[in-house]
Order: sequence, then structure tokens, then C-alpha cells
Amino acid sequence: MKNNYASPEDLRWKCYKCNIFLSVGPATLIYMGNKIKAQLPVCPQCGFVFISEELALGKMAEVEQILEDK
Ligand SMILES: [Zn+2]
Repeated sequence: MKNNYASPEDLRWKCYKCNIFLSVGPATLIYMGNKIKAQLPVCPQCGFVFISEELALGKMAEVEQILEDK
């Protein structure tokens, strides 16, 4: 199971609140009532998790698949 959903492009983003670059770290998402732990770009200061459009559209389908396989 691949848990790293961060791509290098995501790390060019800054937190809109703190104005510092995001770093990849473990984050917990709630998706369809399930807690999913994944490596995602997060703000080291406030914990904001950045979810790119690609992740939202593409990777969530993968996650759904993972959940169905359980
Ligand atoms: Zn922040």
C-alpha cells in the first residue's frame, strides 16, 4: 500500500496563513467516515494539510479502492 501522496510540485506551495513552505509529513484525513493516514504536504506551523486537485480527483479513487479491499 502506497501511503505517500505528496508530489514535489506540492511543496512549492506555501501555507496561506503562515506564509511558510509546506513540508511532507504524516497527516490524517477523514474520507467517507474513514480515517486515512498518509504522507501529505502539511504546514509545519499550523498543521494545515494541503490537498491538491490531483489528489482530490485521482488519489481519492485509489484510497477508495484501498478501503474496499479491506
Ligand atoms: Zn500554516
